[in-house]
Amino acid sequence: ISVVEATKAQIERIKKEDQKYNCYVTVLEEEALARAQQVQALIDAGELKDSPLAGVPMAIKDNMCTKGALTTCSSKILGNFKPPYNATVVEKLEAAGAIIIGKLNMDEFAMGSTTETSFYGPTKNPWNVEHVPGGSSGGAAAAVAAEEAFYTLGSDTGGSIRQPSSFCGVTGIKPTYGTVSRYGLIAYASSLDQIGPIARNVSDCVAALEVISGYDKKDSTSVDTGEYKYTDALVDDVKGMKIGIPRGYIGKGLDEEVKNSILKAAKVLEEKGAIVEEFDMDIVDYAIPAYYVIASAEASSNLSRFDGVKYGYRTEDFNGLQDVYKKTRSEGFGMEVKRRMMIGAFVLSSGYYDAYYNKALKVKALIKEGFDKAFSKYDVILGPTAPSTALKIGENLSDPLKMYLGDIYTVSVNLAGLPAISLPCGMDSKGLPIGLQLIGKHFGEKDIIRAAYSFE
Ligand code: GLN
Repeated sequence: ISVVEATKAQIERIKKEDQKYNCYVTVLEEEALARAQQVQALIDAGELKDSPLAGVPMAIKDNMCTKGALTTCSSKILGNFKPPYNATVVEKLEAAGAIIIGKLNMDEFAMGSTTETSFYGPTKNPWNVEHVPGGSSGGAAAAVAAEEAFYTLGSDTGGSIRQPSSFCGVTGIKPTYGTVSRYGLIAYASSLDQIGPIARNVSDCVAALEVISGYDKKDSTSVDTGEYKYTDALVDDVKGMKIGIPRGYIGKGLDEEVKNSILKAAKVLEEKGAIVEEFDMDIVDYAIPAYYVIASAEASSNLSRFDGVKYGYRTEDFNGLQDVYKKTRSEGFGMEVKRRMMIGAFVLSSGYYDAYYNKALKVKALIKEGFDKAFSKYDVILGPTAPSTALKIGENLSDPLKMYLGDIYTVSVNLAGLPAISLPCGMDSKGLPIGLQLIGKHFGEKDIIRAAYSFE
């Protein structure tokens, strides 16, 4: 099969299936077919021989800049935004011969856990369309589950790659902070955001991760580890590996069926020769409030750039500059984004800064310490990705606090800057997938990949 045929077939499938799921905000049909021809020519000329991504159709969450192609963040305010440049990950994918076929639906500005806050309507879970796909990278996870892309890129600020991967029965990796360049990723909370791959299995995820990672001078938080050969870790051998399960991760609040699947997965690792034990790591209790304070604070600052002057949507009817700002932002942002910006402005305001933002930073430092201590004993930390399987559409939309609490197992990983993978480990009695989370130490991607590969 030629690259053009494969690309056409994938786009046909999207046209047929996506009315049901709404994974895509934009399908780049013409661009992808033109690109497929070019990549075929390169392959015929003997180039791209060592690139496993060459000619494979894939898609990207709609918060990564694609030159000349709509990049909306699933928001009205960027509804007409065509960036003049590519994100570094896009450049890297193109150099590897990837065929980018479209841009994927998400929670508006990546704020949410259900993909219901998208201006372009919710994405549905391919396992059961009455359920959410998770979020914020819901389109990216659902597209892989519905075979509307071979693999995708998502972003993870507090779980947005791992939780939708868990809800959709696919595999997703959130790399160590600094591993993948954030250049061209529209910022939500810059100190927590990381781009990562979502795919049908660990091997595919790792192939994509290897391509997109690496030092980038355009991202001041990029770290040069000089060590990105993650495919080396695809070995079925966990003998002697030390795996810890924090008791707080399998205690109250966790769905029984999810808990049983997680413990069964731990048994599998144990039978393969890993040393598995439970331990205490209490600080998880404070992760959610600290995360929402820090993420909202950074968001309120990052999103001030959308003012109707420089980018995207501008209100039609206005009276002076102040009015442009006010109306554009009132009309252009959705409810959840406004809520976050108000929380963020509040916790940063004078008189409250120490009580909230500074305190949250202290909790963040303690969380990092807690993990450091755990990783002096364990190679990998194991637990669930989310406290339940996919919720019903609408179930949490009117109760943001309940939605925030669903991020209990994911947000601390971002606060500590650690790598983590979510992979499927069973089904509940409703036929919805359950996700297993494996967390590694800083730049310990290979440890979590090796442990995850045991299940492949
Ligand atoms: N659900 C979390 C939030 O709404 C995480 C989102 C994300 O990782 N982008 O902030």
